[in-house]
Amino acid sequence: MFTGKNIVHSDVVTKATHDALARRGVTLEDIANIVYEMQVPYNEGLDLAECVDSIEKVLMKRELQHAILVGIELDELAEQGKLSAPLQQIVESDEGLFGVDETIALGAVFTYGSIAVTTFGHLDKNKIGIINDLDTKKGIGVHTFLDDLVASIASCAASRLAHRKRDLEEAGLTYKEAHKLKNKQPDQQ
Ligand code: MG
Repeated sequence: MFTGKNIVHSDVVTKATHDALARRGVTLEDIANIVYEMQVPYNEGLDLAECVDSIEKVLMKRELQHAILVGIELDELAEQGKLSAPLQQIVESDEGLFGVDETIALGAVFTYGSIAVTTFGHLDKNKIGIINDLDTKKGIGVHTFLDDLVASIASCAASRLAHRKRDLEEAGLTYKEAHKLKNKQPDQQ
């Protein structure tokens, strides 16, 4: 039984993370579309459901949850004009030299290794899907941190899939076969 005082239970942090993304209009399917595009060339038979599943798994990691909660909070405070000057103006305008958004998001991908890091670099340069939508919606809300956080989540989920593919290959399974076995075996994180 969980008895830790002053410690936030994982379930609370996980729920807060999902709620924050939903509040900002980002669905897991939006992020899954990016993951799919990044990974389908290397994963025959990959489908969107597998990408959503991978996103759900990486969203259980505190490393990512904390980055998402901090970044989204700052976007929302900036939107409400509640940051102090000059940070308010810097975050609100997504100032070119402000790199803390990228730094926080990049810090959260290290747990998923070099594939996550290089994928993040790619997505930071070539904003695809909802990352581009968030980046170009300037003037409608503040998404200074959110675009980078979405890239971070997608990069972690893509890296996880790449590693999972090797696990499946070594087990002599395809994604399709793994799907069938899914309910019979405890899933890997
Ligand atoms: Mg940004």
